[in-house]
Amino acid sequence: MIVAIDGPAASGKGTLARRLAAHYGLPHLDTGLLYRAVGHTLMTRGLDLDDEAAAVAAAETLALQALDREVLSRHEVGEAASRVAAMPAVRAALLQRQRDFGRAGAVLDGRDIGTVVFPDADVKLFVTASVEERARRRVAEMRGRGIAVDAAAVLDDLKRRDARDSSRATAPLKAADDAVVIDTTTLDAEEAFAAAIAAVDRARAS
Ligand code: C5P
Repeated sequence: MIVAIDGPAASGKGTLARRLAAHYGLPHLDTGLLYRAVGHTLMTRGLDLDDEAAAVAAAETLALQALDREVLSRHEVGEAASRVAAMPAVRAALLQRQRDFGRAGAVLDGRDIGTVVFPDADVKLFVTASVEERARRRVAEMRGRGIAVDAAAVLDDLKRRDARDSSRATAPLKAADDAVVIDTTTLDAEEAFAAAIAAVDRARAS
């Protein structure tokens, strides 16, 4: 079974993807980490985030096993990821890796899993929430980790990232026509998980 989960930043899709993978005994790939790793490589080498040749080279040589979730989860790395993710050649370089990972069954989360990476996925979820609620969660999570943040800046960053991810020409963020939309704005983690399980079980039964 392939479960494709898409949605904007801080919508809760990553947590849901992890929990669904554990529940159904499937491997999980957070595909945002791939784009984050490419952006992070350019940052650490002091390269321009518009340097397409360097971004493609980083994507082609990425080692999935070597991804450092702690470093890659930083806010500024998400911003860099969204810049390189708008380059079609970077997306092309990462496409086969994602398909290879999911071939034997998996839960994958990202922005274009149900539309581009696995358009024939058994189950497609589009997980979303209002941008204000997503910013509130992101701020709470960062403060919980002892990181000082400016709440207004986080909200602005999310809005900018949503706009960039949704308006790019290649594989923009959008729900697949056959995706089940789960709006988590007013749901807690358990309610969101229950809604996701119900959607997966319904799709498998049909
Ligand atoms: O999900 P996450 O916030 O880690 O993703 C970081 C960035 O990577 C997103 O803002 C998006 O631009 C890009 N991304 C993408 N396609 C995916 C996963 C992530 O374009 N499948």
